[in-house]
Amino acid sequence: MVFEYAPAPESTSVVHLEKSYGLFVNGEFVDGRGQGFATVNPATEEVLAEVAEADARDVDDAVKAARRAHSRVWGPMSGAERGKYLFRIARIIQERAREIAVLETLDNGKPIKEARDVDVPTAAAHFFYHAGWADKLEHAGLGTSPRSLGVAAQVIPWNFPFLMLAWKLAPALACGNTVVLKPAETTPLSALLFAEICQQADLPPGVVNILTGAGATGQALVGHDDVDKVAFTGSTEVGKAIARTVAGTTKKVTLELGGKAANIVYDDAPLDQAVEGIVDGIFFNQGHVCCAGSRLLVQESVAEDVLERLKRRMSTLRVGDPLDKNTDVGAINSPEQLARIRELAGIGEAEGAERWSPACELPERGYWFAPTIFTGVTQAHRIAREEIFGPVLSVLTFRTPKEAVEKANNTPYGLSAGVWSDKGSRTLWTAARLRAGVVWSNTFNKFDPTSPFGGYQESGYGREGGRHGLAAYMEESVR
Ligand code: NAD
Repeated sequence: MVFEYAPAPESTSVVHLEKSYGLFVNGEFVDGRGQGFATVNPATEEVLAEVAEADARDVDDAVKAARRAHSRVWGPMSGAERGKYLFRIARIIQERAREIAVLETLDNGKPIKEARDVDVPTAAAHFFYHAGWADKLEHAGLGTSPRSLGVAAQVIPWNFPFLMLAWKLAPALACGNTVVLKPAETTPLSALLFAEICQQADLPPGVVNILTGAGATGQALVGHDDVDKVAFTGSTEVGKAIARTVAGTTKKVTLELGGKAANIVYDDAPLDQAVEGIVDGIFFNQGHVCCAGSRLLVQESVAEDVLERLKRRMSTLRVGDPLDKNTDVGAINSPEQLARIRELAGIGEAEGAERWSPACELPERGYWFAPTIFTGVTQAHRIAREEIFGPVLSVLTFRTPKEAVEKANNTPYGLSAGVWSDKGSRTLWTAARLRAGVVWSNTFNKFDPTSPFGGYQESGYGREGGRHGLAAYMEESVR
């Protein structure tokens, strides 16, 4: 397989796609023993490539390669040496940023400006950050002489394919673990490009293995007897299935699951800024974001004003070709996801909420859903409780801070929240009472490798990022 990095006028020509791709096991691309499947550009419905599907025997090969690499090379290697590899990977990501961004947009449907400005630089930042940790772990108060866990099985979703890969791989590798990673079936290509980056960085064979496939591949991987650690990001439903698969074993597990975040706007908030945050909170990445601000809780006295400004702002959103640098909202990742969004939006209407979208012409081919808000939503409505994972905002109102907190916490999830107010005391009072892993103040969707990220309740357990994220990949007090 070849991804050519050639400067060219057409943005897609920076990527050269092979007709088919194998699995990445022990430093090489190999055939899969499963049936194989196609990955499709959701903006055009064109097949991008055929991809191998790993079966249980392929999983076994990859886990064995990871085990060998862990015991012979990566585990015994000094932290300083491991750090050099991670720095090298981070730099290659920067060098090949344009290629990765275009490939991600083709496979996922997200706007190129988001892939270019958020996904790829944040992924590089994760490798730089963890490269810096690799030789400092012993003296960081994380345990004396920490040891790696061994072989990590990592399963990731389709919404931020390359960034989720970086979130998972960088801390695992920095701590001395080896990895078998499975990307989502609708977005496997950037993980395969990462495999090529591993070769380019001369990463020892077996340290990173990439297995493409669907749920059955993921299940065989997390259920493999010789896996020490399972790290999963995806839906709450599958997270619970994985918890059942590993029950009865001593594997360490972290689960990053779904969300239904509240974005709370008080009457003293800077309203134009808040509206930008609301738009970013729910329409960034088509709302395919676990921490999306999918519930707007706005104080009654400013609700009308905020809604008017929000509708005006939504009318300026450009929906369409994800490769166009001016596009704000791209394609929905798959027909299955589109059907789910349509179903829940239909339920919202049937339950009596009022639906509104700006006038926008959606492309004929591909999977599209216009930015949508529902007003008149109550807590009893399913669209106020269930994760839609699309560009759909449910608007609720409140009168007092106490009511805002009660409504915000009235969810089985607890991943993130936003608070908009000019008063620091009000923000702090509110944030202290919200049951959410991250609370943003006068901003939304800000990610940084130094900050731990993770959920309460049905949003999962464990943290990724910062020192907390490293702790999930080490035996903390071995000696
Ligand atoms: P999903 O749960 O359907 O799939 C996620 C991954 O799990 C895929 O790679 C899939 O092939 C695999 N899988 C499916 N069944 C499996 C099984 N039984 N055993 C092992 N692996 C299995 O999720 P999705 O649709 O890809 O992603 C959307 C979901 O991910 C949303 O709920 C979103 O909130 C969540 N998410 C959470 C975070 C976070 O950090 N908390 C981040 C991004 C996405």
